[in-house]
Amino acid sequence: MPLVTSRAILEASLAAFKAGNPFAVGAYNVNNMEQMQGILRAAKETHSPVIVQVSRGALKYAEDKYLRNIILAGVELNPEIPIAMHLDHGNSLETVQRAIGLGFTSVMIDGSLMEDGKTPSDFEYNVRVTREVVEYAHERGVSVEGELGTLGGIEDGVGSGRTRLTDPDQAVEFVERTGVDSLAISIGTSHGAYKFKGEPKISFEVIQRCRQLLPDTFLVSHGSSSVPAELVAEINKYGGKLEQTMGVPVDVLQKMIRAGINKINVDTDIRLAATAATRRFLAEHPEKFDQRDYCGAAREAIAEIIADRMRAFGTAGRIGEVQLLGPEDMKAHYAAARR
Ligand SMILES: [Zn+2]
Repeated sequence: MPLVTSRAILEASLAAFKAGNPFAVGAYNVNNMEQMQGILRAAKETHSPVIVQVSRGALKYAEDKYLRNIILAGVELNPEIPIAMHLDHGNSLETVQRAIGLGFTSVMIDGSLMEDGKTPSDFEYNVRVTREVVEYAHERGVSVEGELGTLGGIEDGVGSGRTRLTDPDQAVEFVERTGVDSLAISIGTSHGAYKFKGEPKISFEVIQRCRQLLPDTFLVSHGSSSVPAELVAEINKYGGKLEQTMGVPVDVLQKMIRAGINKINVDTDIRLAATAATRRFLAEHPEKFDQRDYCGAAREAIAEIIADRMRAFGTAGRIGEVQLLGPEDMKAHYAAARR
């Protein structure tokens, strides 16, 4: 099976929500081969559709084509899994064009920030840049995620560090004027490992209101790692120096799914799991120096935490609910929607 669009997978999530049996699709960040293998092992084991997402930082690290081809290798080796290849936090039409040129089937344009990925923008700027991307991407059958409101925290150099919750009424105007498929909303989650001092305050009201007002738009939650205390403790036990903080606990994520969230971005937890496993392996085997040993240990840990998330998000066992539509199939759909 070739790559599907994220719309194909998210339609299944929305249908399941409407049928009273909701699940969210996890979007997991990938930077190298072991991460891709870990993600797909988890998807295979749990029979889950999956969105693999790539940040601009990842493209730079892997010189675009290494990463593209690693992802395509994963697709080729796992024909039974619906996989979407998604650009995370695209900052301009140019970045989006580059990603689509590489074969991405789904893109995010984050117009809540200016092109530097740091400075909050105004609403009109956001509408303009997002609309441009939607026109370009939909003509090519590619799904688009926009963002309205800003999240706390900073990750991969992205973020203003300031929280501004999404205004649901403005979200309606945004979706109407831009035509985005998916909308990342700011509901109190935060990017990066250092999210909250205590329990996060998630605005379920904003989720529910957006769900009501936008019944056909996929809702996305960024900054949704759980930052498990045991992983931070494991890293610190083997020589790390991370401060203990709180992420978004898994039961809170599950409540968000029941309120109408369709896509959940997870990056930090993968980093923590890989780092903990690497540190532990090297501490326990000081005589080893083969990269395959500790990268292999990290890969196992990645597969394990992602399989946990897939089960927790209800994605496990949902492969059969996804219509296998790639960009070519979606072109007609989007052309009809434009008319
Ligand atoms: Zn994000």
